[in-house]
Amino acid sequence: MFNNTDKHYNQFSAVLKNKFGVKVYKITLDAGFSCPNRDGTVSNGGCIFCDDGGSFSKAHSNLLSVDEQVKIGAKTLSERFGAEKFMSYFQAFSNTYKPVNELEKIYNSALNHPDVVGISIGTRPDCIDDDKIKLISSFKDDYYTWLEYGLQSVHDKTLKKINRGHDFECFLKAYEKTKEAGINVCVHVIFGLWENHDEIMQTAQTLAKLGVDGVKIHMLCALENTKLAEMYSAGEIDFMSEDEYVQTVCDFLEYLPPDTTIHRLAGNGHRKILIAPRWIGKKFEVLNKIDNEFIKRNSYQGIKFVYKDT
Ligand code: SF4
Repeated sequence: MFNNTDKHYNQFSAVLKNKFGVKVYKITLDAGFSCPNRDGTVSNGGCIFCDDGGSFSKAHSNLLSVDEQVKIGAKTLSERFGAEKFMSYFQAFSNTYKPVNELEKIYNSALNHPDVVGISIGTRPDCIDDDKIKLISSFKDDYYTWLEYGLQSVHDKTLKKINRGHDFECFLKAYEKTKEAGINVCVHVIFGLWENHDEIMQTAQTLAKLGVDGVKIHMLCALENTKLAEMYSAGEIDFMSEDEYVQTVCDFLEYLPPDTTIHRLAGNGHRKILIAPRWIGKKFEVLNKIDNEFIKRNSYQGIKFVYKDT
């Protein structure tokens, strides 16, 4: 249905394959960034779900230089999967949280490999400014360039509850500046944040109206040594069931425009430190259930998207 695949949504990996002619593999990098929401600059303690790896991922060892990480990542992926092209991906913590001259060196190191065709930088919307946007924008003529903003929800009451340290307005300002600079924007959202179904759909409709380029969906999960894990043991939160998550993902995607790229719907590889819900460890099972639910509904991404206000 989308990109000559049998997927009922616009999967980012298929978009990459169409664009570059081969499967493009992400090399996840750790340049030793921190986060202003963890070091006390914005608030104390960070987001309630954040673990020591910084927002859902343990990246490669930060003892290695970024150049080395790219070289090793490309070699490993080539040997294991025959990979030919790569995107450098800064995932853990806030990857714009350094002075712009340092960022320039770090990002250039990540692009200094003949088979790297793109760069994706994950950060917070309060961790960006005009100079940083200008720097990132300078890559876009030669590389497929993305900024990924953690937003999680458009509802300020939710952002407060998860100790996000910024509000929706902050995201909007960063988003508008980034789009004006011609950089692709992927927005991260989390399901299960004490929100009802209508509230989650309001996030989908708001992102649809903004026309964001990409979306990454996570299921809230309690990892060891997090505030959320404490709340879970105190009985302060119930997680969505797998079935509820699958239904909610399909409902959410139905509201997004068909050309919004879907960067992730399941799986975050944290089985060793995952406390709950345990079902999120079975990534392919969840993805299969999403595919089957779309088939059952005879539906697809964008079916409920309204192109113009009447
Ligand atoms: S913004 Fe990301 S790295 Fe920072 S506290 Fe929240 S989840 Fe952790």
